[in-house]
Amino acid sequence: MSEVTESEALATLHRVFGYDAFRGEQEAIIEHVVAGGDAVVLMPTGGGKSLCYQIPAMVRPGTGVVVSPLIALMQDQVDALRALGVRAGFMNSTQDFDERRTVEAEFLAGELDVIYLAPERLRIDSTLDLLSRGKISVFAIDEAHCVAQWGHDFRPDYLSLSVLGERWPDVPRIALTATATHATHQEITQRLGMPRARHFVASFDRPNIQYRIVPKAEPKKQLLTFLKQEHEGDAGIVYCLSRKSVEATAEFLSRNGIEAVPYHAGLDAGTRAAHQSRFLREEGLVVCATIAFGMGIDKPDVRFVAHLDLPKSVEGYYQETGRAGRDGLASTAWMAYGLQDVVQQRKLINMGEGDEAFRRRASSHLDSMLALCETAQCRRAQLLTYFGQEAPAACGNCDTCLTPPETWDGTVAAQKILSTVVRLDRERRQKFGAGQIIDILLGKRTAKVIQFDHDQLSVFGIGEELSENEWRGVVRQLLAQGLVAVEGEFGTLVLTEESGSVLGREREVRLRKEAPKPASSRSSSRE
Ligand code: ADP
Ligand code: ZN
Repeated sequence: MSEVTESEALATLHRVFGYDAFRGEQEAIIEHVVAGGDAVVLMPTGGGKSLCYQIPAMVRPGTGVVVSPLIALMQDQVDALRALGVRAGFMNSTQDFDERRTVEAEFLAGELDVIYLAPERLRIDSTLDLLSRGKISVFAIDEAHCVAQWGHDFRPDYLSLSVLGERWPDVPRIALTATATHATHQEITQRLGMPRARHFVASFDRPNIQYRIVPKAEPKKQLLTFLKQEHEGDAGIVYCLSRKSVEATAEFLSRNGIEAVPYHAGLDAGTRAAHQSRFLREEGLVVCATIAFGMGIDKPDVRFVAHLDLPKSVEGYYQETGRAGRDGLASTAWMAYGLQDVVQQRKLINMGEGDEAFRRRASSHLDSMLALCETAQCRRAQLLTYFGQEAPAACGNCDTCLTPPETWDGTVAAQKILSTVVRLDRERRQKFGAGQIIDILLGKRTAKVIQFDHDQLSVFGIGEELSENEWRGVVRQLLAQGLVAVEGEFGTLVLTEESGSVLGREREVRLRKEAPKPASSRSSSRE
């Protein structure tokens, strides 16, 4: 039987999709699902997950039901399939009554190969009843990491998907994701109720992407230098945290001779669609965007992804940078990151909504992201290890491999910062952030220093051996190493449990040397 189905799958690949051969584990996955088995698939973005359920949906009798949270993309996905002659439809909240009734009728008549559904549909009894009245070939659960509460993209609607296995025990299920740590992977299997699923884990390495993280000084200028020196005329994505900085960055680049357009949820739908289609169509357009941009966008020749702000998690970073170089050609993932990013994100977590568990989770995601930023080891090794995969000690294609950072004994510097924190903490009345501490160490008589008599402290002016920039680097690295923490809405620096061992001289603190001229020296490989 497997002979027959295998060739049928391959025939579908040739005839419908026009491809010569399966890639990586696609064939094994498809064969397993076509034969009726459950599968959990971890494959990086661009790895070719869609075919893993589309082909079984076509080869097995009945309609393949694809659960996807990306409502905005369903129309495009369905259009693309129809263009290939696949009978596809979707059901979501954007449709009017007539449209939905048409799709329902097609499904019941067995006239669809594939139907896309938003997860919230499956909480509605009428949808489940509808599905019961038709014939289903396979359930595909896309973006399956959304079911994991400890993941970075949890969607409560996904929890109800365990109903699929209960109501349709004989229909194979395939859960797919591009982002999962070992813990998330386990959670997917457990929450979707797929104990017998076979697991297919592709390598997460994207060898053609060069990872680089530079200290942030003047981010827009640094970005411009990077683009001018290495990616003039290339298509790429620049991610910023806020709509305002998206706009400002697009405008700045355009003014400086790099064609760039903004993309964020505050723009009207028409403008967004226009900018997106220009990006897909044109050769060398830069899109400055919030993270809303890029999900499901399939542009093979994105030559760089730049971050002007710190992503909230390593998963997010990996997913966003993964949009570069899908064609396998050399590409760059470039990020500028600074102390302010850390303080800002800690404040957001501290002040944000969500319960204690949510905050702890967000906080541990941020910790992992910081560890990646501050590592003196290979970035790729750190990334792959994070995803529980084997990694070489050094990849030769990331900034730390190409220009190994110098490290220095920062124990005394760390002690100076921590003792200042201790002294300010005694004042109780007022909380102080990193800026004030650095001013005190540098012996600056600013208005705020005078106001609180901080020039009278014994630590005043004891840190003149380092520049302000270097001190910021020290604070950042202490934050990343958990030797100091940020609290409350003002970003107050406070001690951690670990701080004592540094103050008590029980441990050495190794720090990366800050690049002397962060603006361009470290960031460019050609000078
Ligand atoms: P993912 O969902 O894993 O991000 P996609 O399913 O969108 O990836 O596939 C990424 C790209 O690779 C698409 O353009 C797809 O058409 C292409 N692709 C997938 N499988 C093959 C294959 N076997 N041969 C050639 N191209 C493929
Ligand atoms: Zn490396």
